[in-house]
Amino acid sequence: MSRFARTLCSLQGGAFLWLAYCAVQSARNGATWEVWLFAAASLLPVIAMFREYELADERRAVAVRAERLARLRVHAEEINTACCERWWTSLATDHDPTCPNQTRRSAA
Ligand SMILES: [Zn+2]
Repeated sequence: MSRFARTLCSLQGGAFLWLAYCAVQSARNGATWEVWLFAAASLLPVIAMFREYELADERRAVAVRAERLARLRVHAEEINTACCERWWTSLATDHDPTCPNQTRRSAA
């Protein structure tokens, strides 16, 4: 979770506490309508906090997926740049006799 998201969650927690406090004060003063209004409004910051955590989880999952894809691309490039079977199995020290890269690779 980013610093901004944590700050936002803190503000939403403060808004929840304030609205819950307003609901309690309204109940003390016998304002029934306002009690329900503040109680319902106090749920909105809580929902927003859950949404923020959900977004952070999704961002983390996307980052993990991107890292896996990058690793797969590197492996695919390694496989695609493999010259011949002997070159692959001999850890790039030797080529098949019929390999067109035999002189170039072995000279390197
Ligand atoms: Zn080769």
